Amino acid sequence: MLTVTITPLDAWIAEQVGALRPGQPLAPAALEQWQDERKSALVHQVRAKSPFYRSRLPRVSSGPCTRDQWELLPFTTADELRRHAPDMLCVSQGDVSRVTTLPTSGTSGQPKRIFFTEADLERTVDFFHHGMSTFTKPGQRVLVFMPGELPDSIGDLLRRAMPRMGSEAVVHGLAGDPGAALEAIHGARADVIVGLPVQVLAMARHPRAALGQRLSAVLLSADHVSQALRTAVEQAFGCPVYAHWGMTETGYGGGVECGVRHGYHLRSADLFVEIIDPVSGRILPEGVQGEVVVSTLTAQAMPLLRYRTGDLASLLPGPCPCGCLLPRLGPLQGRLRDQIHIDDHRTVSMAELDEILLELPWLANYRATLRRDDRGWLLDLEIVASQASRSSHTGSAVRQVIETALNASSLLEQDGLRLGRITTGAPTNPLSGPVKRSLQIEP
Ligand SMILES: [Zn+2]
Repeated sequence: MLTVTITPLDAWIAEQVGALRPGQPLAPAALEQWQDERKSALVHQVRAKSPFYRSRLPRVSSGPCTRDQWELLPFTTADELRRHAPDMLCVSQGDVSRVTTLPTSGTSGQPKRIFFTEADLERTVDFFHHGMSTFTKPGQRVLVFMPGELPDSIGDLLRRAMPRMGSEAVVHGLAGDPGAALEAIHGARADVIVGLPVQVLAMARHPRAALGQRLSAVLLSADHVSQALRTAVEQAFGCPVYAHWGMTETGYGGGVECGVRHGYHLRSADLFVEIIDPVSGRILPEGVQGEVVVSTLTAQAMPLLRYRTGDLASLLPGPCPCGCLLPRLGPLQGRLRDQIHIDDHRTVSMAELDEILLELPWLANYRATLRRDDRGWLLDLEIVASQASRSSHTGSAVRQVIETALNASSLLEQDGLRLGRITTGAPTNPLSGPVKRSLQIEP
């Protein structure tokens, strides 16, 4: 019989909120009480220390912030973070240990800068330690296909976290070359890998993919994980694939799946997650998809109050089959800005395209662009065939296969959306860089 153990994050969170009862799941009420106290402390912290929040929260009483008061607090947007980062800082510059600058993607043209103190980074290392122990055993070796050269980078934080559970992380860096990455798995005698979804897919669809069959688990992070991609990697490597959700704004870590792999168990002592209607800002009930809003409950350097992440997901109702009673996030449906409205009733999203296109067994990656002509929307695709199939998937045959797949899923309907240009071969650097893949609109 399959035994499922409760996520190790449950006891970790219980300990932090002071409600650890060994062998028993943490009661949601104990977590809620902790979160309510931390939410009040967060409001007073940013009001006292951040010029940005002080100007936005002029009328805050000194007592606890009630739930009704909390729900009236303004959201913080990514554009505000780009424009006002120095004014959001709640510690002196001397107390900042790391500043992460994120590539620009907003309207202001300014990059996002996120600040961390040593204590902020320690909380992330602690989360990595307990989150990774979901699928990593003591003595195992983790190969990390994430950036790790700089101190306090994701790779470096994992390298510091794994010895705490008696295992070891070796940082390879991004897996731009899937063949070399597979050789590295073999060479390092890796048991677990951490990587970007499409980079690991390219490994799974490489002629030497069998080198990945020594793995006991794969963790995918930093971009959308479609079911099609997850299945392809699990079949190629013969091991379970776990997904992690997080972003630099949440201190890199956010939530990770348990053994059941049905929703992300959140880092709930450090993060308070709400789901809102992206248009009205109204808080949505469990089970309803909307925009993920995060408040950081323990951050020192740059605490975020009701930060709109742009990610789309719901909070799952009911307890997890693993036994944990705490809130879980999932499934993630990509990002708000990658969900393009082609008319009043229909959207096209990268998440939807991933489910259809990444199911094609010869495909390693693609880039999608929408453009308009006088009849409606056109979907242009730059296709990257996997290394194993590159010579056999070119030209008009590719167009036919893709058109069939898109038609079968009813994505192409009448004149609302048509297939535009299909180009094959490697578009510029689609497999490299930690930047999330996104659905482009041709200006
Ligand atoms: Zn679970």
